[in-house]
Amino acid sequence: MIIVMKSGAPKKDRDEVVKRIKELGYKPHIIHGATRDVIGAVGDERGKSVLQSLESMHGVENVVPILQPYKLASKEVKKESSLVRISDNVSIGGKQIIVMAGPCSVESEKQIIETAIEIKKSGAHMIRGGAFKPRTSPYSFQGLEEEGLKLLAKARDISGLPFVTEVINPETADLVAEYSDMLQIGARNSQNFALLKKVGQLKCPVLLKRGMSMTIQEFLMSAEYIMSEGNQSVVLCERGIRTFETATRNTLDLSAIPVLKEKTHLPIVIDPSHGTGHHHYVAPMCYAAVAAGADGLIVEVHPDPEHASSDGPQSLKPVKFDLMMKKLRLFAEAADRSL
Ligand code: PEP
Ligand code: MN
Repeated sequence: MIIVMKSGAPKKDRDEVVKRIKELGYKPHIIHGATRDVIGAVGDERGKSVLQSLESMHGVENVVPILQPYKLASKEVKKESSLVRISDNVSIGGKQIIVMAGPCSVESEKQIIETAIEIKKSGAHMIRGGAFKPRTSPYSFQGLEEEGLKLLAKARDISGLPFVTEVINPETADLVAEYSDMLQIGARNSQNFALLKKVGQLKCPVLLKRGMSMTIQEFLMSAEYIMSEGNQSVVLCERGIRTFETATRNTLDLSAIPVLKEKTHLPIVIDPSHGTGHHHYVAPMCYAAVAAGADGLIVEVHPDPEHASSDGPQSLKPVKFDLMMKKLRLFAEAADRSL
């Protein structure tokens, strides 16, 4: 249920409503709007009609049911787009399109620092790089783990850019969060509910990727797992879904952008690297994503893709990334966005 407070209702009225929601066995989530606050009361769907009685409380305008199965992620609860703050200079979901770039895996100090410096020169806003890698084969490179996190922190110090890195299980989530500006939940873990709950309890923003065979509704339900634990800083990432097509690694579902924009207030980032699997398809998909309304891009960039430990074929060399960024500016302007 959504409890819509009257515009200008005093804090003490809101506190009373919050108290009553808890007494009725529901979890209150206060959402501050431009003109009024709303309180999402989430919990057992079956007895929710008892919440209707809150309508008679001071400062309450009305009480309305949330029709979608996802509640906190829904536009029904919050109409304005959310701005997710990553650092003092970087927020996702505003007019500026945020570009995250870097290697699939952190491999060495030289590799990650060289990449961070190059992408910054080209105008990227964040570094990406995997330290804990979820690989299809147990025999493939699994990442440098904590050493990789330290190298990412060093690259951040040198470049001044915050970084996003993947977290693959609840056991190492605190460790990864200690170092990181943003936690990535990968496609393979997007319905790992124990992991979603765990990152929901942390203070760090989350980049949630869409699973390979996930519907939009399932995607938003995964975001709901994180948000219902208290972490509202969730950014969605479309990275391609599995279809019958084999010419690309995945099928990048750009129609997910307008669909999600209609259903949720959360920002949307596009990953054309995993979405296509081939470096020469990456730039056109970046332009198309911006035209379709994406709030950001996450792009794999490697100084020596031929020798990359993972995802070399889909990684751009810094010079190609630079060309893409130059042209992207034009598309951003046409979409009334900035880079
Ligand atoms: C990655 O970002 O390198 C990655 C493993 O992505 P995904 O989970 O989308 O496959
Ligand atoms: Mn990758």
